[in-house]
Amino acid sequence: MNKKTVKDLNVSGKKVLVRVDFNVPLSKEEKGVIADDARIRAALPTIDYLSENGAKVILISHLGRPKGEANPEFTLKPVADWLKNKYGEKFHFIPSPRVIDQNVKDKVNELKDGEIALLENTRFRPEETKNGEEFAKELSEISNLYVNDAFGTSHRAHASNVGVASILPSAVGLLIEKEIDVMGKALETPEHPFVSILGGAKVSDKIGVIENLITKVDTILIGGGMAYTFLKAQGKEIGKSLLEEDKMDLSLELIKKAKNKGVEILLPIDVVIADEIKSGVETAIVDIDNIPEDKEALDIGPKTIELFASKIKDAKTVVWNGPMGVFEIKEFSNGTNEVAKALADSDAVTIVGGGDSALAIEKAGFKDKITHVSTGGGASLEFLEGKTLPGIACIDEK
Ligand code: ADP
Ligand code: MG
Repeated sequence: MNKKTVKDLNVSGKKVLVRVDFNVPLSKEEKGVIADDARIRAALPTIDYLSENGAKVILISHLGRPKGEANPEFTLKPVADWLKNKYGEKFHFIPSPRVIDQNVKDKVNELKDGEIALLENTRFRPEETKNGEEFAKELSEISNLYVNDAFGTSHRAHASNVGVASILPSAVGLLIEKEIDVMGKALETPEHPFVSILGGAKVSDKIGVIENLITKVDTILIGGGMAYTFLKAQGKEIGKSLLEEDKMDLSLELIKKAKNKGVEILLPIDVVIADEIKSGVETAIVDIDNIPEDKEALDIGPKTIELFASKIKDAKTVVWNGPMGVFEIKEFSNGTNEVAKALADSDAVTIVGGGDSALAIEKAGFKDKITHVSTGGGASLEFLEGKTLPGIACIDEK
């Protein structure tokens, strides 16, 4: 990787502004309670590294969509409580409805080496999502160095990433370093056979990913809702399964493109069908040529699982994006869980990208057995599409 990382910076005694991704899901039942702290934990290596090396660490993040106003519903206070619990005396929450004001500046100036501060939700400021100059300037004025470690927002050009990075000397944090190292290496210099598993709801969401991966992989396994547009385009009867009629031509084109490049594309050979997407509903397994007109295919079947698992078993690199079925409902989660297990059992470099895919891997209990589960939903998709992420592109080169 040619971007500077925190390890290339001399941080001792410096005020280091760190953009982290503390956009944690909050509990719907209990106010101010964090439902999943994975994103906070993912940011700790960089925070600890900076603190241990004598930096004054100033953390900034967004949370939810307060739409440019100081809405208390979206305060970072719950995250501040989490950090206080972890770091004790050396942690300070310095909230302001404007994120930065004179009081914040004074408090930041009082920080001692190794101490950690958290400011309020960057999206309390309307300039944040517009990459407004004034907010970026204010952020840069309270710090000496800038570190971006929020992979999940790096596909957006905001004041708290692209804006400040264009003013201050900058580097990526350890989380972003890992994201781009592992995923970048897999896409640029993969070990073959390279197998990609694609699923999820729609073809239209994944066109960019398929087009980019066709130029890199040996095999593409297609499951999930998008498989049925491909199957229908090839003349199969798909009943009431998810169909994007306007993407049928494109699917045929993609199949042709793959063929020309010698890339194997495999579609489901059997499926789990039901009347509707509902838990407790009666299900049946049928071969792909036998989907009844009035049924919907909501998961891949056992023969498809076996076929996909055998391809995964022989692979040296595996990239997975998109669940194989409606994994949120137990009756249709088997295909996704079994593919997750095949990845977990494999010796290959295994990478999972996409918000729902990451969730599915975690639910299946295999997260620890995967080489890398990306922390960014939209960002990891754009990465797999081969796009440049502005929040990373703006960081100083080594
Ligand atoms: P990711 O977030 O990992 O990129 P997507 O958002 O593309 O994944 O897809 C996830 C969604 O796809 C899930 O909500 C899942 O229920 C849905 N899905 C998967 N298979 C089917 C199917 N056969 N029919 C309808 N929806 C499906
Ligand atoms: Mg999704």
